[in-house]
Amino acid sequence: MCWIFAYQWGRRDAHKILVHGLERLEYRGYDSAGLLVWDAKWNFKLVRAVGKVSHLADKVKKEISDDQNFSIWIAHTRWATHGGITEKNTHPHHDQNRHFYLVHNGIIENYHKLKQDLIAKWYIFYGQTDSEVVANLLEDNWTGNFMETVEKVLGMIRWAYALLIVSTYAPNEIIAVKIWSPLLFAYNGKDEYFFSSDKQALSGYADKLIYLDDGDIVHLKWNEYEIKSNGIPTQKKIEDMDIQTLESSKGEYKHFMLKEIFEQANIIRRIFKWRVDFNKNFLNAEAFHGMQDEQFKKIVFVWCGTSYNAWCMWTYRMENLAGIDASCEISSEYEYKNIKVSDDTLYVFISQSGETADSIEVLKLIKEKWGHTFGIVNVVGSTISRLTDYGLFTRCGAEIWVASTKAFTAQITCILLLALYLWKKRGLGKAKYDKVMIELSKVPVMIEDILADTVNIRKIAESISEYKNFFFLGRQYQLPIARESSLKLKEITYLHSESYPSWELKHWPLALIDTSIPSVLFVPNDLMFEKNISSIQEIKAREGRVITISDKEIHNADANIQVPSTIDEIYPFLTAIVGQLLAYHVADILEKDIDKPRNLAKSVTVK
Ligand code: GLU
Repeated sequence: MCWIFAYQWGRRDAHKILVHGLERLEYRGYDSAGLLVWDAKWNFKLVRAVGKVSHLADKVKKEISDDQNFSIWIAHTRWATHGGITEKNTHPHHDQNRHFYLVHNGIIENYHKLKQDLIAKWYIFYGQTDSEVVANLLEDNWTGNFMETVEKVLGMIRWAYALLIVSTYAPNEIIAVKIWSPLLFAYNGKDEYFFSSDKQALSGYADKLIYLDDGDIVHLKWNEYEIKSNGIPTQKKIEDMDIQTLESSKGEYKHFMLKEIFEQANIIRRIFKWRVDFNKNFLNAEAFHGMQDEQFKKIVFVWCGTSYNAWCMWTYRMENLAGIDASCEISSEYEYKNIKVSDDTLYVFISQSGETADSIEVLKLIKEKWGHTFGIVNVVGSTISRLTDYGLFTRCGAEIWVASTKAFTAQITCILLLALYLWKKRGLGKAKYDKVMIELSKVPVMIEDILADTVNIRKIAESISEYKNFFFLGRQYQLPIARESSLKLKEITYLHSESYPSWELKHWPLALIDTSIPSVLFVPNDLMFEKNISSIQEIKAREGRVITISDKEIHNADANIQVPSTIDEIYPFLTAIVGQLLAYHVADILEKDIDKPRNLAKSVTVK
């Protein structure tokens, strides 16, 4: 995962700060590193090295003397996405006339067309990166004003990026921009300014911190800076750079989990904003360009943890909507099967962090055999996002809480978009497609309806919090939701819970049903509704307690949590939120440490 860092002015030994900062982030992995230094008299030096930061440090020692007083330093560790791992492709990059220098974290999705246009104007490129295209675009669009030029070019490139840009046209200024790749702005009382992809690298150097949002631009000139949000000058919140910073951003919520549950309607809106135009019934399919999807007859989903439940949704959706055979594999087990990679199969990897070690191992194996790969990940620039051939970012922002909520809903949204894309391209069922699009557009509002009144959920959580064992049951689209909800309860309450297809009750789970085990059934008014009602009867006949989640009134249930009415494919978005809230309230009533469940790590980057 690449990292960018800039340092302006100050009287410290900047070389040491930069190398130290890069070293702090080394655990994330990268393949090359480089830096650019600039002094007040406008002398500059570009140093790049393939391999470890220590290789760069050795070169810097030889090429830059300690007594030179440089004012701007920009450094980068690269994990190649476009172009081989060579010194030429290592950042910082510059345009052909060396007027603009930049470092870039992320990918420019539409770089190919832009590069062709520049080549047609006789621009010469020394490397293969998408980032070098941005440097030349800046030169090609120079208006005489640094900020204006950057804004013009931002209108031409498509994310994701965090970019730090300097120019010989505007000495001693840095412009930083961010869409979807992480970027922070920080400073300290000694007039030293920093940009960094990660807060971790700044501790001990900066004491004030500004979290940049997507669409923000920072224009830093000597001792002053201006920040614009989507083109409009803005004042951002300045936070103290201490270990408490993350904690304080819980806002009005008691826990991060609750905050992230409440963020979900807007996260789905954000995905729609970039990927769907409901007025024109159109999916922005840029991410799939170049994918030879006509050849795919089979999709294999490779998963771990919560992503498994999102994958299951995939299999139903792919088979029912796009007519493609689909199956799920656990990555840690799949690795040891004799995987026969075939040309008509698409291997899809889903991961919040994009760093899940077990999945990366399988991904590498499949790539060795020339398999086609697709990633659905949250973190831009993460390993899975870089190694897969195609992909979608879930864009749900940093997920602080260990067990996933908003990443899951973002994943199932992206999965549905991919299914709809394949469905439309294969010309299957237009009327159904249109119906799904209409109902999909209502999802954020329906989620807000659920979140607007959670009193009933809290009451039900109170009534079940004294039990020690639970069943979570559902069928078809609701089975993955039953599994995910059961997983959430286990993760944060440490109570025992099992999840099953409700129809399987009679094959063994009924043996355990009695007054001591409540069953939570996901029974919206979908294709499985009648069958689920029979399962409820079976449990009631054995004196089991039944909690249902449905848009219909369920007469023989002990309690029902109401969700809005929609269609089969869309109910999971709603029932998933209820499952999260139920787990949250039970854990809160039991006074568990909700945001830091025992024994769990946010991203499982080790095998
Ligand atoms: N896409 C750019 C490259 O391949 C940046 C990669 C990165 O984020 O490290 O050079």
